Amino acid sequence: MSREIQIANAAGFCFGVKKAIQKAETMDKAFIFGSLIHNPQEVARLASLNKKIVYDLKDVEDNKVVITAHGLDINVIGQMKEKGLEIVDTTCPLVTKIYNEGLKLQGQGLRIVIVGDPKHVEVKGIASRMKDPIVIYHEEDIVQVPEGSKVGVVCQSTLLLEKFDQFVDLLKARCAEVVPINTICKPTKDRQTAAAALSKQMDIMIVIGGRNSSNTHKLADTCMMNLPNATHHIETAQEMDPKWFEGKQKVGITAGASTPDYLIEEVIARIRTYDELIPA
Ligand code: SF4
Repeated sequence: MSREIQIANAAGFCFGVKKAIQKAETMDKAFIFGSLIHNPQEVARLASLNKKIVYDLKDVEDNKVVITAHGLDINVIGQMKEKGLEIVDTTCPLVTKIYNEGLKLQGQGLRIVIVGDPKHVEVKGIASRMKDPIVIYHEEDIVQVPEGSKVGVVCQSTLLLEKFDQFVDLLKARCAEVVPINTICKPTKDRQTAAAALSKQMDIMIVIGGRNSSNTHKLADTCMMNLPNATHHIETAQEMDPKWFEGKQKVGITAGASTPDYLIEEVIARIRTYDELIPA
């Protein structure tokens, strides 16, 4: 009997990543500063098309450099300009919106708190535009925020929805004034909401996306809340173990914002090959 396979209502490439890739594809060759997207398979495909990822400005062997959808530290952009490089900026408009929201709150005399992974290029980009910001990612980081202070809060675009509310509550218990602006982007919200809803109805969830993709990890975390023993985060179809599907009739699929459609299609095709072999 064929298994039921359902893809989450919102899954895979977001418009920001899609636009960035399309832009790089229009260039004969491109030096992309940092990972354009957090998906090793798509990065390898782009490399085969002469789009090279570099992590150091000295490796840019052209007069042009591409800034990724996640944005970039403003100081690094300054160095690019000093070197006379032409900048092809594919920063997602929803990341630029976070810069603007942060600056607006700062203009109101608030100290900026950014909820997000301090090592992520997007968070570094936001922090670099603020005056003396505080980045918090784990609960224990809250001690960095001075008690009684007045803060404006923004967050990484791909943060887990619950995490933002949880941090705002912690800040409210500590600070004299807290003005939060939830800057999780709509595509991320849609993907998280759809993954949560689908994982409630399915027997197993397959979450496809780079192991270096923060939004894919968050989708997996979301599914795990409903299917703690039947959520599997994979990068490619080859990683699936047919045993996972034993006794599972309803298969849900979701994918991070950096996951191209062809990887999703490969997963579906492989699950179909299990229908005859593995009892649902
Ligand atoms: S995840 Fe959101 S902010 Fe990031 S590139 Fe996609 S749409 Fe833009």
